Amino acid sequence: MAQPFISNHSPHTVSELKEEIKRLKENIQMLELEIQHIQKNCKHVFLEEQGFRKCMKCHKIDVYYY
Ligand SMILES: [Zn+2]
Repeated sequence: MAQPFISNHSPHTVSELKEEIKRLKENIQMLELEIQHIQKNCKHVFLEEQGFRKCMKCHKIDVYYY
């Protein structure tokens, strides 16, 4: 009764995958810009940690150099 493995996903071609990668990279860039924008406009609420502090709201990290 063993069923042969059949993928539910339609097979991707290399060019489809490359298109998808390109799309995702553009998406990542946009998201990183969004984070930068949030961090620039954030009224930081820093949590003190050992050697650095991290904003609770935007996750910006300030590293202390001794
Ligand atoms: Zn912040």
